[in-house]
Amino acid sequence: MADLKELYRQVILDHYRNPRRRGKLSGPHVHAEGLNPSCGDEFFLDIRVEDGTVTDAAIEGQGCSISQASGSMMMDVIVGKTIDEVRGVSGKFKLMMGIDEGEDPLDHDRPGSVLGDLEALQGVRKFPVRIKCADLPWTTLAEALEGVEA
Ligand code: ZN
Repeated sequence: MADLKELYRQVILDHYRNPRRRGKLSGPHVHAEGLNPSCGDEFFLDIRVEDGTVTDAAIEGQGCSISQASGSMMMDVIVGKTIDEVRGVSGKFKLMMGIDEGEDPLDHDRPGSVLGDLEALQGVRKFPVRIKCADLPWTTLAEALEGVEA
């Protein structure tokens, strides 16, 4: 178990130091902004949706390693997915973090098989103050999806 914890720590640090899809989108897109005042995290999200599929995304912002890593991990999983699939991932993430109540969505015999790198954040649920940090990109994403024309 200690090895898995160390692996998860490395995954989080890697996303924090080398965030994926950093920047802004040009051309048609939806923009949303999220703030987590309790920690000082800021998150800015651009997504492009074409025919119900997220075809491009970019993020900017600053804050703690948990919030920024969570956003970077989100970039890896949402691009190329339909809005329904993205909502499915978000739902599993919120179950994993204990934000929503329900059955544990992870397959603990096969780490990474359900939510990929995002599973590295599962330990954060033990720290209620930091759950908001991990969730910030996802609440911002939900807001952006509301701005997408159905
Ligand atoms: Zn934070």
